[in-house]
Amino acid sequence: MTTQPQKKLHFVMIPFASQGHLIPMIDIARLLAQRNAIVTIFTTPLNAVRFKSIIDRDIQSRLSIRILELQFPYAESGLPEGSESLDTLPSPSYRENLMYALSLLQQQVEQHFQELKPNPTCIISDKNLVWTPEIARKFRVPRILFNGYGCFADLCAHYIHVSKIHESVESDSEPFVVPELPDRVELMRAQLSSAFNPESDPYLKALRVRIREAEEGAFGVVVNSFDDLEGEYVKEENKTARGGKVWCVGPVSLRNEDELDKAEKGTNKNKASNDEEKDRILSWLDLWTQGSVVYAFLGSMNCVTPPQLAELGLGLEASKRPFVWVIRGAYRREEFENWLKEDGFEERIGKRGLLIRGWAPQVLIISHVAIGAFLTHCGWNSALERVCASVPMVMWPLFGEQFYNEKFIVQVSKIGVRVGAEVVVPPGKEEKFGVLVKRDQIREAIEKVMDEGREGEERRVRAKKLAKAAKEAVEEGGSSYLNITSMLEDVMQYMHA
Ligand code: UDP
Repeated sequence: MTTQPQKKLHFVMIPFASQGHLIPMIDIARLLAQRNAIVTIFTTPLNAVRFKSIIDRDIQSRLSIRILELQFPYAESGLPEGSESLDTLPSPSYRENLMYALSLLQQQVEQHFQELKPNPTCIISDKNLVWTPEIARKFRVPRILFNGYGCFADLCAHYIHVSKIHESVESDSEPFVVPELPDRVELMRAQLSSAFNPESDPYLKALRVRIREAEEGAFGVVVNSFDDLEGEYVKEENKTARGGKVWCVGPVSLRNEDELDKAEKGTNKNKASNDEEKDRILSWLDLWTQGSVVYAFLGSMNCVTPPQLAELGLGLEASKRPFVWVIRGAYRREEFENWLKEDGFEERIGKRGLLIRGWAPQVLIISHVAIGAFLTHCGWNSALERVCASVPMVMWPLFGEQFYNEKFIVQVSKIGVRVGAEVVVPPGKEEKFGVLVKRDQIREAIEKVMDEGREGEERRVRAKKLAKAAKEAVEEGGSSYLNITSMLEDVMQYMHA
């Protein structure tokens, strides 16, 4: 009797155009290819180029993975050349144009979709791309959602939405308990993502409604997290099952095992300047003893104003620790560079501080033994990457779901401390809020997280334990590895049903 060779699964990945969504989706794509699936990733040229060399290496090692480039609709969307993702927009006022540009990609995706060989068997698409359910329906394939954050944050948003608890408090600063969660978690209306803000942009509010609607009918949700980190919350997320089954397959950044992958992932610098930057960073880090350096990074999309950035710099200076400080490339850089010069900051700091302008190879940096603490904007990917690096964090949430992540890291996982940010600063509204976090708060939070006493030591022990659990989760037989197996089996079953 001859056995028929089993048909290979073909996943089409449609990521959102922001680094916090694109990077983990590319990692998931590579994990699926490693597990013998065929993977096609749809994205636009300037996003594709950030992963080209990594994907080329995968292809050379015979994985069936490719990037299919879509033309970016500059003329129709009114976006300036070079702005194909949230982190490269000249200002937050272009966000709506970007969302419009991404919606225009639907037609191109559909055209390519019909020509893909072998026929795609499943779509994994970002939940922000609300037109992807239509493609799944049209081509009769299951659609798996990717939402860019963990189960805890998703549940906070979900239970606040369904209970409307935030509408029962009298002011933005009155705390309320988020219903239904396994732990008692208090938040204030001023800390919620823009969907819950009555003054929020009507366009964004309408989009949130469409995003929730688009969750309906999904085959499942793939989450960049792992069972040992979010245990009770993974179970709870499965119970709510708005988008079908939940598979936690992370931390997906651990897919980048070698130094080259870590250095090149997501970068928009060219190879020569990237190599040069990598050498500059590693030789600087080698100067310092284990666990002595603070790494400060406020996210790829932050629009922190120059005066608030200056306060951060002065806080790092006051900490008296060596530090790496990543300063975003696109936003009011000239003004900030002027402050640096006028203040004499870099001269005063000398070799104790390493400033990185624009894109930084974050995963490479935080894997270095010299790093002893992270100051973070609480983006979920950064938080997870830091969990893997087993170092405690100073949490400085800015907007979006970042206050939920802060609660999770400080209160539930107990591996971080708060800097003391109290309110969401919506992108584009920074000027209105002024300097909210002062240099002394930054210095104190760094001292606390690097404290050598019992509390600090317990935090470090917990961080080490979680990092070990993260590595075990992605190893063969680990929970995330097995969740990928189960996802593949479920899609296979759907195909044969
Ligand atoms: N990132 C990086 N270098 C940078 C900026 C960002 O490597 O200079 C990566 C970071 O490691 C993470 C992602 O981009 O994987 C950012 O995602 P996150 O959820 O932390 O925050 P966001 O930037 O989306 O707010």
